[in-house]
Amino acid sequence: MLDRDNFLRAENTRHQFHPMTHPMMSAEHPPQIITHGDGCYVTDLDGNRLVDGVGGLWNVNVGHNRAEVKQAIVEQMDRISYYSSFSGSATAPSIELSAKVCEMAAEEEITKVMFSANGSDAVETALKLARQYWHLVGQPTRTKFLSLKQGYHGVHFGGLSVNGAPYYRNAYEPLLGGCFQIDSPWTYRNPYSEDPEELADAVITQIERTIQAQGSQTVAAFIAEPVQGAGGVIVPPASFWPKLRAVLDKYEVLLISDEVVTGFGRSGSMFGARGWGVKPDIMCLAKGISSGYVPLGATALNKRVADAWYKEFSETGIIMHGYTSTGHPVGCAAALACLDIVEQEDLPGNAAKMGARLLEGLKPLAERCSIVGEVRGKGLMVGLDMVSDKDARSPMDPGNGIVERIAGYAREEGAIVRPAGSVIILSPPLVIQEPEIDIIVDALTKACDRYDAEQ
Ligand code: PMP
Repeated sequence: MLDRDNFLRAENTRHQFHPMTHPMMSAEHPPQIITHGDGCYVTDLDGNRLVDGVGGLWNVNVGHNRAEVKQAIVEQMDRISYYSSFSGSATAPSIELSAKVCEMAAEEEITKVMFSANGSDAVETALKLARQYWHLVGQPTRTKFLSLKQGYHGVHFGGLSVNGAPYYRNAYEPLLGGCFQIDSPWTYRNPYSEDPEELADAVITQIERTIQAQGSQTVAAFIAEPVQGAGGVIVPPASFWPKLRAVLDKYEVLLISDEVVTGFGRSGSMFGARGWGVKPDIMCLAKGISSGYVPLGATALNKRVADAWYKEFSETGIIMHGYTSTGHPVGCAAALACLDIVEQEDLPGNAAKMGARLLEGLKPLAERCSIVGEVRGKGLMVGLDMVSDKDARSPMDPGNGIVERIAGYAREEGAIVRPAGSVIILSPPLVIQEPEIDIIVDALTKACDRYDAEQ
């Protein structure tokens, strides 16, 4: 065993490119090797048992190492590990899971689901099906996509094109034409207003002007996250989503809710848009659907959109899209077990309750610590906005290593937290309870105090 551990330490970064980091950075700061997980805890190669404040990557919602999920995976593997969902064949779990997702999203009038393997796939599928929808209803000029700055929609070329942060895009351009990003309704940093209602109205006006300037007959869809996650946990004003839905309806533009993070409870309601009282036309799902046990993505269509495929048979309606892993039986079996847990244990309710405790516990840091500008969040999505100047609200330069340092200190106190640019993000498993919330709060408080004491 020790031989293997030593091999892992020595070879850690030799043959692997890691996402979202420079290979020279990973060589200099080798990634921590996680070996075990149980519930809200993980253990690293050195035997440290830590609270998983990141929930894998906002995805291990039911917690690590759940017997029910492992059993569902093994039972499915005992039957068959893989068969294709391309025309002519199907496997049982994908049939059951599509029915389950439609049942859970009945309020949104979701009637169809198309599976894939990741959130990026779910977004790509949504963008392509949105364009195809407009072909089917006789408006093929509707091809453009609108989205929000600071938005994150995965890494495929379509998703990147609607991504709201240039640093994800720059190395991979040129991307899709006809994609336009509008200012995010971000109360902490915006050029319009600190008043949430005024801000929501200002952004909605921009959206309307953009639709008008492009010509509404050319705009296919607007895609957004109900709470912007990777962009820094940006919670829009409560009126923003209802107003967004209204302006899109006015111009018949489809609303795609990217629920890859918020789907299945993370923001405190079963779906993020539901938390804002809004029914999207299309939802992108991944992460929490299978809690990361097996990769799985899903794109869910409401009746309005899905019915377009059933008007008449036409070549335009053939779905020339799909992946080898579409409807993967093991992924779908894992997801069915996870969604049972989500419902039985009321994980959206627990996320709302525990999220409030986490937010309240961390909020004092904005007063107490010299470099915490704002603590914000909804449900179990919480962000600490780290600043170099509190009055100017200037984001901390991620290059100076301070955000990483705070995360390192928190780790020494027993909690894994995620430095993402200038924001420290918390997204623990949705099964988390008070003692673990308090460990995270305590670890970050000590980490910030230690930083200030060192100045
Ligand atoms: N959309 C959103 C909102 C996401 O947060 C993410 C990933 N964090 C994605 C899409 C892409 O998902 P994946 O990494 O599984 O491709």
